[in-house]
Amino acid sequence: MAPTPTAVDLDLAARARVAALVEALPYVQRWAGQTVVVKYGGAAQVSPELSQAVMEDVVLLHQVGVNVVLCHGGGPTVSELGKRLGIVPRFVDGLRVTDEETMRVAQQVQVGLISRDIAAAIGRRGGRALGLSGQDAGGWLRARLYPYTDRVTGAPVDLGRVGEVTEVRAQVLRDLLHDGIIPVVAPVAVDEQLDALNVNADAVATAVAGALGAARLIFLTDVDGIRGPEGTPVPRVSRHQLDLWIATGVVTGGMIPKATACLEALSAGVGRVTVADGRVPHALLLELLTDRGVGTLVEDAPSEPQP
Ligand code: ADP
Ligand code: MG
Repeated sequence: MAPTPTAVDLDLAARARVAALVEALPYVQRWAGQTVVVKYGGAAQVSPELSQAVMEDVVLLHQVGVNVVLCHGGGPTVSELGKRLGIVPRFVDGLRVTDEETMRVAQQVQVGLISRDIAAAIGRRGGRALGLSGQDAGGWLRARLYPYTDRVTGAPVDLGRVGEVTEVRAQVLRDLLHDGIIPVVAPVAVDEQLDALNVNADAVATAVAGALGAARLIFLTDVDGIRGPEGTPVPRVSRHQLDLWIATGVVTGGMIPKATACLEALSAGVGRVTVADGRVPHALLLELLTDRGVGTLVEDAPSEPQP
């Protein structure tokens, strides 16, 4: 049996808690009133413990006055349900090839399942969240068919119902934030006919962050950051360097849309863009309320690319 804590132990625990809160004060002041967009994907979405920690972080940040918007992915679950229905998942450069049937599955999983579960999880921690996809509010998230070309041959590739975001009618998000509600965004947009298009969640997070003039965009993923040619994660990378890494195949698979999204976010004026290790519990609070980054900061630095 654990020994009963003494008055001195309790005093120490209480003091440590107070000290931590006081240390967080300048960070809280820095981000309060600012908009922070979180792309919630990777490991943090799969593990119940990590997921719980993300929800706690989101509710805490919201509680101290940060305007948090959560954009989620859900690729593995779409693949899993699709497989049970006999659909074999196919990807080109990290983008899911989406026929009509896959689109219906993606919509069911992303909007019907994942968004709602996240909104409920936030609710359980005492926050108020609302799940929404581009189909809602008159079609607030617009896209067109992604005109994708093969990275090597330049030949057009038919990705099916895969969209490229064209417009974010962000007022609905601003209204929700103003009313103290945390928007939870599913990566489903609509075309001009308001028919659903599957959009990579990294691209959705970037479009949303740009439209809201976000101070921070944090991609929670399942690696320790963006890895360079040596295969080790780098704490910071300039946009020039990252561009080069995409072009030379240092960055592959799901990191291609993510790295591209980072670069686009910087171009759209988002203050700080990071790819964070979602396997670290409370990665969001570590990123926002301490000096300890848990991944890679993509910088607008004017430095020239290194060989
Ligand atoms: P998410 O769910 O976060 O979008 P993805 O699987 O789409 O995750 O993308 C992250 C994956 O990208 C990593 O798990 C890793 O396998 C892959 N990857 C490819 N190139 C790199 C790189 N240079 N640095 C880090 N990860 C990379
Ligand atoms: Mg991905």
